[in-house]
Parts: sequence; structure tokens; C-alpha cells
Amino acid sequence: MNFYVMTLFPEMIMQGVSTSITGRAMAKGVIGVEAVNIRDYTNERHGHVDDAPYGGGAGMVMQAQPIMDCYRALTDKIGKKPRVIYLTPQGRVFSQSYAKELAAEEELVFLCGHYEGVDERALSLLQTENVSIGDYVLTGGELPAMVMIDCISRLVPGVLGKDESADIESFHDNLLEYPQYTRPEVYEGLKVPDILLSGHHANVEKWRREQSIERTLAVRPDLLPDAVLSKKERQYLERLLAEQKAAMAEKENISPMTEPDACQ
Ligand code: SAM
Repeated sequence: MNFYVMTLFPEMIMQGVSTSITGRAMAKGVIGVEAVNIRDYTNERHGHVDDAPYGGGAGMVMQAQPIMDCYRALTDKIGKKPRVIYLTPQGRVFSQSYAKELAAEEELVFLCGHYEGVDERALSLLQTENVSIGDYVLTGGELPAMVMIDCISRLVPGVLGKDESADIESFHDNLLEYPQYTRPEVYEGLKVPDILLSGHHANVEKWRREQSIERTLAVRPDLLPDAVLSKKERQYLERLLAEQKAAMAEKENISPMTEPDACQ
């Protein structure tokens, strides 16, 4: 799979993706990453790629011309017109299921904004898919592009070694992952749960699934309606929910409103 990134800071992208798993995948040729400098395509003789916004307001806006010329040179070179993703806080929020969908593509183009963003006409001409990595504002689209490339790459066959699997990580089955432990067995008085030392694979698997359910319920209950659970796991979740409800009812019964007044 090939990723093409249109950016004003190509070195930032290449430095970010050239290490660890993505770096190894690039060296093996399983993925390719090319960062293209939008500034190389400006017609402006001082190399400017941005200008003040029409209608006034703070900051600068990236101009359409260098972006469009950059995109046209890129698509002429590769002979294809892949999906173009514009990184923006105003986009659809990136998720594991969206990453799975994008991992099926052979090529993807990313457009990184900077300053106040990009002239809207470039976005309409490119028919971008607008993607956000979360409800916060960053300086540029480079980190979001790297986040997406990292996440999508893990789903491309051959990127992860056989010891690293994307199948049982958080968000698989719409659950968070179970807790992990490694040597030593006891660290600062804290022991690894006995079940993990039992060597009983079926029991370990059951415990891990239950831990995943508990963790998801505690931290991300919004994921549970779409969780893929067996009948027994669903019953386990219902038990946890009943316990949670009972604990809340008990707490309400001993709330300050019903406690005797300390001043009396
Ligand atoms: N003025 C823009 C707005 O309010 O929507 C924000 C511009 S931001 C300072 C500059 C660039 O950073 C954006 O064009 C976008 O490419 C990138 N960016 C910032 N936050 C992002 C986020 N949460 N997800 C994806 N890209 C983001």
C-alpha cells in the first residue's frame, strides 16, 4: 500500500514514519510513504503558499493553486487518482473501523493543512474526505496524517510480524483490550494474576474476554452496544450491569440526604 502526503513539512512526515514498525514495513517494501512538498509547486516568486483570508480575520489560509498543482503532478506521476483525505478538526472522526476500510485501498493521498486551513475551493476540486483525529486543534495536519498512516499500516498484511497481531487489540469486537503482564511474576509486591500462570488456555482466554468487557464497561461503555459477544459473555455483561445498578442504588440510600444530621 502506498501513502502520499501533500505537506509543507515533508521531513516531519518522513522522520515520523521511518522508525519502528512503519519504518521496517517501508524497508521491506510492504508499504511506501512519499511526502511531497506543496511549496515546490507555488507560482509565487517568493515561494509563498498562503495569503490573508477574504473577509478578514486572524491567520493565513493555504492557497488553492500550489495544492492543486502538487496534486496534479502527483496523480500524473502515479497514473491513478486515489482517495484524498484532508486532515481537519472539522472532519469525520477517525476510528479503527474507518482504518480497516482504508487499509483495503492500494493508494491514499493525504492533504495536511497548516495556519488557518486550506482554501475551500481546493477541497471541493479534490473532493476530499475530511477526517479529524479528535476534538482538539493541532498546528498542522502532519501529526494526524502520521497517526492515520501508522494505524492503517498495522492492518496491511505483512506489516506486523507473526508475534504482533492487530486481531486481538483494543477495538477488536468493539472491546478494549485486557490487561497485559510480563516478567517478573512479582513486582513491588504486585503479583501477576494466578490464572495467567495456570497454563490453562481456555480459562486464560475466558478471563481475558471478561477483563475486556469489564474494562470497556468502566471506561468506554459507549462501545458496548456494538460489541461482538457470545451468549455467555452477554450474560456476564448483564451480571456486571446488575451489580453496577445495585451498587448505585445502595450509594443513593446512604447519600447525605438520608444520613442523620451531624449537628443534632
Ligand atoms: N482554523 C481551523 C478550524 O478551526 O477548523 C483549524 C486549523 S489548524 C490550526 C491547522 C491544520 O491542522 C488544519 O488545517 C488541519 O490540517 C490540521 N488539524 C488540526 N487539528 C486537527 C485534528 N484534530 N484532526 C485533523 N487535522 C487537524
